[in-house]
Amino acid sequence: MQKGNIGITTENIFPVIKKFLYSDHEIFLREIVANAVDATQKLKTLAMRGEFKGEQGDLTIRVSIDEKAGTLTVSDNGIGMTAEEIDKYINQIAFSGASEFLEKYKDDASAIIGHFGLGFYSTFMVSKQVEILTRSYREDAQAVRWTCDGTPAYEIAEAERAERGTDIILHIDDECKEFLQKAKIESLLRKYCRFLPIPIALGKKTEWKDGKQVETDEDNIINETHPLWMRTPSELKDEDYLQFYRDLYPMQDEPLFWIHLNVDFPFTLTGVLYFPRIKQNVDIHRNKIQLYCNQVFVTDQVENIVPDFLTLLHGVIDSPDIPLNVSRSYLQSDANVKKISGYIMKKVADRLQSIFNTERPEFEKKWDDLKLFIHYGMLSEEDFYGRAKDFALLKDIDGKAFTYEEYRTLIKDSQTDKDDNLIYLYANDKEEQWAYIQAATDKGYSVLLMDGQLDTPLVQMLETKFEKSRFSRVDADTIDKLIRKDDGLKPNLTEAQTENLSSIFRSALPTIPKTEFMVSTEALGDASAPVLITQSEYMRRMKEASRLQTGMSFYGEMPDMYTLVLNADHRLVKKIVEDADAALSESLKPIEAELRGLEARRSALEQQTKDKKPEEISDDVRKEQTEVQDAISEQQQKRDALRAEFAGKNLVVSQLIDLALLQNGLLRGEALAKFLKRSVEMI
Ligand code: ADP
Repeated sequence: MQKGNIGITTENIFPVIKKFLYSDHEIFLREIVANAVDATQKLKTLAMRGEFKGEQGDLTIRVSIDEKAGTLTVSDNGIGMTAEEIDKYINQIAFSGASEFLEKYKDDASAIIGHFGLGFYSTFMVSKQVEILTRSYREDAQAVRWTCDGTPAYEIAEAERAERGTDIILHIDDECKEFLQKAKIESLLRKYCRFLPIPIALGKKTEWKDGKQVETDEDNIINETHPLWMRTPSELKDEDYLQFYRDLYPMQDEPLFWIHLNVDFPFTLTGVLYFPRIKQNVDIHRNKIQLYCNQVFVTDQVENIVPDFLTLLHGVIDSPDIPLNVSRSYLQSDANVKKISGYIMKKVADRLQSIFNTERPEFEKKWDDLKLFIHYGMLSEEDFYGRAKDFALLKDIDGKAFTYEEYRTLIKDSQTDKDDNLIYLYANDKEEQWAYIQAATDKGYSVLLMDGQLDTPLVQMLETKFEKSRFSRVDADTIDKLIRKDDGLKPNLTEAQTENLSSIFRSALPTIPKTEFMVSTEALGDASAPVLITQSEYMRRMKEASRLQTGMSFYGEMPDMYTLVLNADHRLVKKIVEDADAALSESLKPIEAELRGLEARRSALEQQTKDKKPEEISDDVRKEQTEVQDAISEQQQKRDALRAEFAGKNLVVSQLIDLALLQNGLLRGEALAKFLKRSVEMI
């Protein structure tokens, strides 16, 4: 028998392991089962090379629980160890700079374990004593038993083991009794060992017999040794991929597409990634990618490993080159991780491009379920934009799909304005903006439907990418102003008529909370609507952006700004102008005359005081200025009152305003009731 101390330069690693590594306790099982798999695969390799000539026999790794003895045992028929090997691999732990590192990562169990290759020692997180009973594959090897009770002291002695292989026997701590429950161990094995390449049995399968659950002879194998991603794509059918997806995510809708990844250089990576259908809620799709290292489950938290938008994908990535047992902040800066990220992004883009090239109708059909993902990628990764711009689609209001280039070609001739800007017209609600869409299509223009969740930032980005191009929502202005071909026609009204008209309509506008209207008069042709409402593209975008971003609440607080556009060419508007002339010109005349006089006086006074400092202006002048101003206001009020009175009696004015409001969903409550009542009366 030999006794000794484990070669750690720091006094004692066990208290550290036990005390600090609390959260990740369960990974001990992954570590020892993975060691058993390694030992088994090494044996297979030796057999293949002819260095091991004996019978391989049943290589199943067995996990067993002895509740009475309080032990959990993992047994393999792998290469085993000699006493010298135990000394070398178990007793001597390379441990430089240990205390410093431990201090830094004391809350991150996997970092410590990975850093020191302490896989085996993680068993002490849950065990009061650990035994290794092992016999090397070498001929006539002597079996040995190593025991350690959680202090650096260990014992090693000759022992009996009939066959080659290793038993790791954990005497589970009293505080960790849960690891003696079969259900717990089964769930951990399914989580971490589900796709390990050597069969792993946890006891026997059970069945119901005479109202009792009884064990059968059949091993309860918990893993799938040839997971789909390790197989050759050419021997797999669509159904295999779909079935694997269902196995991984039993509750999800079928995926849209998938990619089988397989690369050996400059790093090794395999995997299968699925594109889920993403309709609305982005976040529920996150963190569904499972990361494996040689088929050992590591994590399903892949942020920092792949670009954010790729975390929306589902599936499996398996790479021995991702430094798994290090802290997350380290991962981000790791060169391999960056390369892998870049590779996955490129593969995803290539796959989409190839589906687009070869199965365009299919691609178009799935676009609506895919676009959120693609837009997210384009918005967040410049590189991805560069690749996706060739297959990303725009859809017009009839659902016809175009690539960016195709669409540009389509509208280039008709939708370029007089300043050589290409105007992309869009709607985000086909029903609500129907009349505006109609006005645009009547002109022969094309209108895009941009009703996606990310379309607002997308439009913003595309404007920076497309040369001399602008996006305008169809209701942002009258169609002739959205795409200005020339300076447009001026309304055929005198200044006084225009002013009368605006003022009449302004006085009849209902007050809507947090909403403001400007009134403008334009010549839109006699076939266009008499009155319509537009909403400035700029203000609307600012308000939309303020909803998404903090620090822009200034815009969020602003009222909605609309313009009430009066079409001076329409017969109803013309009629109002005539009626107003008839009804108001006599009564307005003296007021106008008075106003002209007062305004002349005001200009004169202004002229007089223009170059003077405040103290040089006499009190008399100042007094007169105030008086003139007051008189002007008084006359203006009189004038507005007359116009308002006219508007109040003219049912057509209110009716036209209400119709325009109604069309924009702005007519509600009392105003709506009044409108209905008035309409009935007018019939
Ligand atoms: P790592 O697996 O990262 O090398 P571990 O501490 O888990 O670190 O294991 C140390 C070494 O002990 C292994 O490299 C292997 O040589 C040996 N070992 C552990 N478990 C077994 C086993 N079940 N059979 C044979 N050798 C083993």
